[in-house]
Amino acid sequence: MVFGGRQVNTFLTALNIPPVSNTLLSARQKESGGAIETVAESTMAVCLSEELDITKNKSDSDELIVSVDGAWQKRGSGRSYDSLSGHCSMIGAETGKIIGYSVRSKFCKTCDEANRKGTKAKMHDCRLKLGW
Ligand SMILES: [Zn+2]
Repeated sequence: MVFGGRQVNTFLTALNIPPVSNTLLSARQKESGGAIETVAESTMAVCLSEELDITKNKSDSDELIVSVDGAWQKRGSGRSYDSLSGHCSMIGAETGKIIGYSVRSKFCKTCDEANRKGTKAKMHDCRLKLGW
């Protein structure tokens, strides 16, 4: 389940807790997102190692068999709607665990602002669609 700002504030209101601003929610999402990605990266490294070990033991080879799937979210609301973000994941055939993933966006506010001003974008965690 994905909770947006409106859902979070509806939940807080039900608990008789004052709502929070979208700016605060966005800042907390950026903080927690980085921590979640760090855990995901280390977990995937362990899973990739496990996948390699099992593959080597079974076939004496480093060639992994994987399943890859990706998507750009869409919504069937009567209007044509394509999400600005997409995802892709790679699953090892031996373990069934995710050994790689990527998340991309069609829009980056920081890059867009720099382009409009004709300046170079400051350092940021850019997720613009590259190589897809
Ligand atoms: Zn960017």
